[in-house]
Amino acid sequence: MNGTVVETERALVSAMEPIHLGIFEGIKAYLEGDLAGRGHQNIFAWNQHVNRLFRSAQVNGLVMPYTKDQLLEAVKTTIKVNAFTGNVYIQPRIWPKAGIPSGTYQESHVVIPTWEMPTILGAGNPTYIKQRRFNVSSWRRIATDALPPQAKSWANYGNSGLAERESRRLGYDGAILLDNRGYVSESTGACIMVVKDEKIVTPPVTASILESVTRDYLLKYLPLDAGIPTEIRDLTRLDLYASEEAFLCGTGGEVTPITSIDDIKLGDTYPGPITTRVHDYYSRVVSGNVEKRRNWLTPV
Ligand code: PMP
Repeated sequence: MNGTVVETERALVSAMEPIHLGIFEGIKAYLEGDLAGRGHQNIFAWNQHVNRLFRSAQVNGLVMPYTKDQLLEAVKTTIKVNAFTGNVYIQPRIWPKAGIPSGTYQESHVVIPTWEMPTILGAGNPTYIKQRRFNVSSWRRIATDALPPQAKSWANYGNSGLAERESRRLGYDGAILLDNRGYVSESTGACIMVVKDEKIVTPPVTASILESVTRDYLLKYLPLDAGIPTEIRDLTRLDLYASEEAFLCGTGGEVTPITSIDDIKLGDTYPGPITTRVHDYYSRVVSGNVEKRRNWLTPV
């Protein structure tokens, strides 16, 4: 926290802090070799995440008091002092210090909470293969010209919370939101990909989505490494209903299969064959088993 290692219970700030103006990042470090194994962790896509953090700070007028290299050292230190033995979630949080006039804030808090987060990945993993019924939310995704979802601001997650609560109230496991034009946007904390004609299709960044690191990675490397073609285009609600498979992708969500959307069942098998190939590929990448993509991993 602000340059020193502190126990969580002592990471305290004033209740007057403008935390609602904060931004954050969600990063994962995976155990080397075997997702359930032991050994040191590797941070997946550090550069992409820290670059997005700096973009979010710039958009929100926040000063970043540390360099990207200093942040990486701080992340490594935090993981090491915790002596984690599993996969780790890293959530750097930046917000302006209290008492500073609005505009460009002169000083920021930088706190890097980390905690162990088990992976949902793994062919027989019950969390991975459990059925997931999604609905199309009655809440629209926040519009780019109101609160840009491309930056990772805490404020964006008020929108996600409304959609999640609606889904739960209606008995669904998760929500897919449409953007303000009526095209498919994303889920509440992950991007959506669907399979059509054995190709993966996903909405563009202009459909009010977060510029997802996982989405970018998969779009680029699935065709090259796994032989799965990908396409970026606007999807309609009908595209969702008519898709052969659907899954979420994201740092926390990893590859999350979806059973049905608005109670329309997708495909004959679950998880579907393409989703399974994406899952297998992503599992191998993050655990360091795809040699030519090991440069996406930063050892702790
Ligand atoms: N959309 C939203 C709203 C998210 O919160 C996340 C998780 N950060 C994602 C998409 C996926 O982004 P990433 O792949 O960078 O984790």
